[in-house]
Amino acid sequence: MTSWTAGLIVTGQLTCDECGRVMRHPERYGYLCEEDESPLRLCQDCARKKGYLKKRWDDRGHEGESFL
Ligand SMILES: [Zn+2]
Repeated sequence: MTSWTAGLIVTGQLTCDECGRVMRHPERYGYLCEEDESPLRLCQDCARKKGYLKKRWDDRGHEGESFL
């Protein structure tokens, strides 16, 4: 199965496919791609609810969130 997730920055504006909220630059959103399905774009809230956004620390020791 091919599936992947990317954390991207909104350019212009974009509608969340889950809750319908409009996201604007420079918000981050999750781009989820699964085989045989059309890609989903999720706002950070929806991505977090679905477990795609995890708290982690970056290599400089700063706490942050990243898409898996
Ligand atoms: Zn949403």
